[in-house]
Amino acid sequence: MNTQYYIDREDKYGAHNYHPLPVVLERGEGPFVWDVDGKRYFDFLSAYSAVNQGHCHPKIIKALTEQAQKLTLTSRAFYNSVLGEYEEYITKYFKYDKVLPMNSGAEADETALKLCRKWAYKNKGITQDKAKIICCEGNFHGRTITIISMSTDPDATNDYGPFTPGFIIIPYNDINALENALQDSDVAGFLVEPIQGEAGVYVPDEGYLKKSYDLCKKHNVLFIADEVQTGIGRTGKLLACDHEGVRPDILILGKALSGGVMPVSAVLADDQIMLTIRPGEHGSTFGGNPVAAKVAIAALEVIKSEKLAENAERLGKIFREEMNSIKSDMIELVRGKGLLNAVVIRPKGGKKAWDVCLAMKDKGLIAKPTHEHIIRFAPPLVITEAQLREAIILIKDAFKQFE
Ligand code: PLP
Repeated sequence: MNTQYYIDREDKYGAHNYHPLPVVLERGEGPFVWDVDGKRYFDFLSAYSAVNQGHCHPKIIKALTEQAQKLTLTSRAFYNSVLGEYEEYITKYFKYDKVLPMNSGAEADETALKLCRKWAYKNKGITQDKAKIICCEGNFHGRTITIISMSTDPDATNDYGPFTPGFIIIPYNDINALENALQDSDVAGFLVEPIQGEAGVYVPDEGYLKKSYDLCKKHNVLFIADEVQTGIGRTGKLLACDHEGVRPDILILGKALSGGVMPVSAVLADDQIMLTIRPGEHGSTFGGNPVAAKVAIAALEVIKSEKLAENAERLGKIFREEMNSIKSDMIELVRGKGLLNAVVIRPKGGKKAWDVCLAMKDKGLIAKPTHEHIIRFAPPLVITEAQLREAIILIKDAFKQFE
C-alpha cells in the first residue's frame, strides 16, 4: 500500500481539521521517524514539542508497558498505588506544594483558569462573576470554547461564538499594556506563554517575564505560565520562565510531560491557590491514571538524567548560527531559544513556507509551517550535535533549491 492510499483513507473517513504534510509515518526512534516506504526523516516538529525525549524512549516505554499490564485506570473515585508517588515526584521536581493532573494541554489551561477564578473569589475577594483574566494577542492555549474565547486568530474563532466572557486581551511583550490592564481591581490573573509557540515562536524582550511577574505581585494578581510547549527542557532550561528566574503562581504543563507517549498534563501551584478547589468541583476520568503517572515520572527522569535542557541550550545556539549563515533571500528572520526555533519565510516566485517544507521532506527532514510564512524547527532534545549538523545540511540543501 502506498503513501497515497493512507492519505486518501484519512481524507475520506477523518474530519478535515488538519492539513498534514504528505508523509505517512509508521515508526520512530530518537530524533528519527520512518515512513511507510521505509524512508527515514529527522523529525523537526517533535509532535509540537511533545516528543522532547525522542520517539519511543526505552525508559518511558518500559514504564508504560509495565504499568499497563498491572493497572491502567481506577478513576479518582478510589486511591491508586502510583498517583501519590507521581504527585510527590513532580511537586518536588518543580518545587510546588500541589499538582492537579489532567490529560491534554487545553484541559490543563482550563484547569488553571478555573483555579484562578476560584482563588479570586475565595482569597482575593473579587465579587462573584466579576473576575477577569488578562491574556495576550497571538496566544495559543488550545481549542475549547473558553480557550478560543481568548484567541485573536480568526481561524480559531470564526463561526464558533458565542464566547466565554471575563478576558482582557493585551498585546504580547508590552509591559505598559499589562500595567494599564492591571489597574482594574477585578483582574485575578495574567495568563502568558513565556514564548508564543504556535504564533510563530515569538520570543519576548529579555526582562518581560520578570517585569510582568513583579507587576502581578504588586497588584495581587496570579502570574500563570502556560509552559505546555516551552516547558520541560525545550528552550534550554527546565522551564522557559527559569531564564528570568520567575516562579509562576500557577504552572501549566503538558506535551513532553509524557515524552509524547500519551496525553498527560498538569497544573502546579501552592496550597493557598490549589486548595481553593474542593472535592467534586473539578476533575477528569483519566487525569492522574496509573499509566500516566508512571509515564510522567519516567519522562521527567529522562530530561534530568540525559541533561536534555543543557543539550537544547547548546545545540540551539549552533542551529540559529547555522540558519543565520544561509544565504537565501527567502529567509527573513531566524529566532528562538534552545531548540524551539523558527525561520520566517519571505515568499519567492509564488513559493512559500509550505514549499520549503515539501523540499525538506524530500531531503529527509520534516517540519511544518505555522501561519503560512513561518517554519518552526523543534527537533527532539535527544538529538546529538553530529545529527543536528547532518540535519542542517538537509535544510541548507532544501533552501538551495529555491535559488
Ligand atoms: N498551550 C500551549 C502553549 C500549546 O502550545 C498547546 C498546543 O500546542 C496547548 C496549550 C494545547 O495543548 P493540547 O493540544 O494538548 O490540548
